Amino acid sequence: MLPTKGYAAQSSTSPIAPFSFERREPGTHDVHLEISHCGVCHTDIHMSRDEWGGSLYPMVPGHEIIGTVKQVGSAVTKFVPGDRVGVGCFVDSCRTCPSCNEGLENYCENHFTGTYNSKTRDGKGLNFGGYSNQIVVDERFVLKVSDKIDPAAAAPLLCAGITTYSPLRHWKVGPGKKVGVVGLGGLGHMALKFAHSFGAHVVCFTTSEGKIADAKKLGADEVILSTSPEQMEGATGTFDFILDTVSANHDLNAYLSLLKRDGTMCLVGVPEVPAAVHAFSLVGGRKRLVGSLVGGLPETQEMLDYCAEHGIASDVELIPMGKINEAYARMLKNDVKYRFVIDMATL
Ligand code: NAP
Ligand code: ZN
Ligand code: ZN
Repeated sequence: MLPTKGYAAQSSTSPIAPFSFERREPGTHDVHLEISHCGVCHTDIHMSRDEWGGSLYPMVPGHEIIGTVKQVGSAVTKFVPGDRVGVGCFVDSCRTCPSCNEGLENYCENHFTGTYNSKTRDGKGLNFGGYSNQIVVDERFVLKVSDKIDPAAAAPLLCAGITTYSPLRHWKVGPGKKVGVVGLGGLGHMALKFAHSFGAHVVCFTTSEGKIADAKKLGADEVILSTSPEQMEGATGTFDFILDTVSANHDLNAYLSLLKRDGTMCLVGVPEVPAAVHAFSLVGGRKRLVGSLVGGLPETQEMLDYCAEHGIASDVELIPMGKINEAYARMLKNDVKYRFVIDMATL
């Protein structure tokens, strides 16, 4: 077993604190990586505080992992020691269902194995995430990350990146389309970058006046302050697609009214409390309310390669491991520009 250092939540009310544990010895198909950086996703807060129910403790959060390969099992073909690699939101899946066979492991019909807050596939132990110095993962679930991208700025691509890239691609956001991005945090800032890069007309919706100038730099053609009823009304019926990244409760009906006929609003943010959607918000205009969950392995690799080629990465604030609880508190006040990333050298 590999003695490992990390940070964990011991219960839904305890802070994230130092925690030692053991990882498995790398098997024949495994990659053992030394973690250099881990992004801080709002999901880490939802799960460590059990906001969605069913959380498993102790919990070592973190699913935006960047590291360097230390050793590989004898059957590993994709990686060699020294490679820069990433691990995202899941570390295993059934590998046999139709979704897995299509490279949509994120929609595995027998449930993917989350990088943390999940049981190991044999049901005997818990999986621990990226707030730690090393991890062992089957090579199928490890991604190649170009040395062209700064490793700290690459970490958020493994969740915030793919979670926004995938729906923007699936619903064909591009030239001639007017696209809204709701919420300017970790996911939101990546959505602005991708939608702009894909050639769409991009509108950012924010509750934070102090983020307006940044939104434009990140790729928004226009910014709407969602707390202004006049600004919201002025946009009625004009959007082809809206991506909602908000982590807390808010009124979806207000955004559905901004869609054109046959427009689509996609939820990626998952607030604790279910939303109330009036049927009238959808029936008048034959509108669609859809959702999307991270992305499969082939598309995650495609997104990472796209970022390397187009010079896209996250805007990060690097923090030492010991500042994680402060980072959570700041995220809950919308004070994030635009992703906290933990420097694992400080662990
Ligand atoms: P984040 O960095 O904390 O950003 C969330 C943003 O939402 C805030 O910065 C804020 O932006 C806006 N917001 C917060 N409270 C709001 C409120 N009451 N009303 C309106 N806007 C509000 O969070 P994140 O890491 O991007 O994650 C966002 C959500 O996506 C979380 O629920 C997370 O669990 C979920 N998620 C889902 C997936 C998936 O696969 N579907 C993957 C990753 C994360 P402004 O300051 O601009 O208003
Ligand atoms: Zn995440
Ligand atoms: Zn499957």
